[in-house]
Amino acid sequence: MDIQDLTLDRDGLIAALECNEPAFNEALCKKAYETKVAHIGTDVYLRGLIEISNICAKNCLYCGIRHDNTACTRYELSDEEVLAAATKAARMRYGSVVIQGGERTDAAFVRKITRLLKAIKALPTASEGGIPLGVTLSLGEQPREVYEEWFAAGAHRYLLRIETTNPDLYYKIHPHDALHSHERRMEALQDLKAIGYQAGTGAMIALPWQTAADMADDLLFYKAFDAPMVGMGPYDPNDETPLTQSGAPLLPDEQRFALGLKMIALLRLLMPDINIASATALEVLNPRGRELGILSGANVFMPNITPEEQMVKYNLYDRKTLLRDCPHSGEPRKEENHICKNCVFPFCSLGENLQNGKVTIGWGRWGDSLHFQRNKSIHNE
Ligand code: SAM
Ligand code: SF4
Repeated sequence: MDIQDLTLDRDGLIAALECNEPAFNEALCKKAYETKVAHIGTDVYLRGLIEISNICAKNCLYCGIRHDNTACTRYELSDEEVLAAATKAARMRYGSVVIQGGERTDAAFVRKITRLLKAIKALPTASEGGIPLGVTLSLGEQPREVYEEWFAAGAHRYLLRIETTNPDLYYKIHPHDALHSHERRMEALQDLKAIGYQAGTGAMIALPWQTAADMADDLLFYKAFDAPMVGMGPYDPNDETPLTQSGAPLLPDEQRFALGLKMIALLRLLMPDINIASATALEVLNPRGRELGILSGANVFMPNITPEEQMVKYNLYDRKTLLRDCPHSGEPRKEENHICKNCVFPFCSLGENLQNGKVTIGWGRWGDSLHFQRNKSIHNE
């Protein structure tokens, strides 16, 4: 397939996703990178990722921190640990944090998040003009009143992936009970948007049984929902989950990785001014995965600032490969966000591209999507 022949209708997206020619894939990612630069520039926005807890009430069949996984050692960060991580993000001039965790709707947890949001907003920051940290939440489905409470307490972005737009596939990878409802997830996403959040969504890529048509439909859903931000990444298996143990069909790593990049690239062409995250799941499959995500059209990077002792227990998928050596210098990387002294940037795999100007950093900025800013005027600069 020639890149000139690419169309962004459903058939064109399916053809692009099914094309395995390296030259096409490379041309697509290059075109997406150029589109990003033309519309939103070279800046990458940073969000310090705080994995607040791996305690979850749900049982998604693919996820290593699902409620019934007895092999998972549970933790919950204390208020002090969360605030220390947020303070670190402010000191590093990340501009924003993401608080992500298992889904819990109990009153103590809801109150804790409200309390933390107010405390994070009151932290002194190193951003220009002392702007408070921006906060994105990713804590699953909650009653509308809870979303409202957290919005009022200072959260302004929320990431809730729909996991897949195909309901049949959704029910193949989730238990069939009241806690796991595709319809409810869609409603929750609409609630977030109606409240005024930058309501981000996304799906897993290259799931068992997922077709190119399913993935094309996911892309078209982001467009129809007018998502200001999208976080999507390849499905990576965890041995302790029912999905892996059932022997569900799995594409080889290289194919899941290539699809991960292609989905980012196609979405950038479809929605040139939105925020697209380069997911950690890409780096599980390739040591330069998140960097290649940025060079294929993504513009958001989330350095993990969870205390290391707890980070290793947040095993959605097998994360061992994240503790690799620096791909540039060969310096051993001891932890997921080890700062390599030979690279100019705290996540070493972007070093070269920072130096040659293909990537610049939006230091200390919230980095709201231009798409959202154009639609509303909630931004910090
Ligand atoms: N519990 C919240 C939720 O589900 O929305 C937020 C945290 S959850 C761990 C964040 C995302 O992790 C999910 O939306 C899902 O797409 C992703 N995830 C879980 N297990 C995964 C796996 N095995 N491979 C890739 N992504 C996975
Ligand atoms: Fe819980 Fe989210 Fe994992 Fe589902 S994907 S089991 S809701 S943490």
